[in-house]
Amino acid sequence: MRRAAILARIEAAAKAAGRTEGDVGLVAVSKQQPDTRIDAVLAAGQRVFGENRVQEAQVRWGARRAQFSDLVLRLIGPLQTNKAEDAVALFDAIDTLDRPKLAAALAGAMHKLGRRPDVLVQVNTGEEPQKGGVSPPEADALIHAARETYGLPVRGLMCIPPANEPPGPHFALLAKIAARNGLSQLSMGMSEDFETAIRFGATHVRVGSALFGPRG
Ligand SMILES: *Cc1c(COP(=O)(O)O)cnc(C)c1O
Repeated sequence: MRRAAILARIEAAAKAAGRTEGDVGLVAVSKQQPDTRIDAVLAAGQRVFGENRVQEAQVRWGARRAQFSDLVLRLIGPLQTNKAEDAVALFDAIDTLDRPKLAAALAGAMHKLGRRPDVLVQVNTGEEPQKGGVSPPEADALIHAARETYGLPVRGLMCIPPANEPPGPHFALLAKIAARNGLSQLSMGMSEDFETAIRFGATHVRVGSALFGPRG
């Protein structure tokens, strides 16, 4: 089973970095994966999953939620303000806060629904125009506003480095922004680079294709 191999690699990378295995959680990125693969990973004991679209996640996890009470669902894709309420209703963590308007929408939805999923701020470390995330120079102000103005439970940061660059400097930048803001969680690293991310302090690695196989 691929999951056991991934967990072994996470453990080895954590140990090599002088960290303990329990410091790094595997987020199984289940977007666009067939049910059979998801059920197999659930049967192997995986409970933390990442999805990048609210509607797709509702369809995939609506019924399974009732079956697995210890499921943890994380939103790792861009969120529109008009979907904030649906996202707060379904997810246990929203990893892609990147603008004040969305912070306001999430705060309103949390108040209305009486649910407080964890929030991570996504930082666009490569300042790529097509990618979500707050730009690094604006990150401190957004983190501050999310906590103080909107009262959100901000736990950490998330990034997706540019595809064509070495990811290390991006992971280092994310870790630095988190440290100076007193944030402990770092969601970084995917199939191709999760071991590097662990070396730079990742607490959550988001692994899709290496765990499930190629997306359909
Ligand atoms: C799809 C996706 C992943 C997983 O990518 P793989 O390369 O398949 O591991 C991780 N993070 C985000 C934000 C994604 O959209």
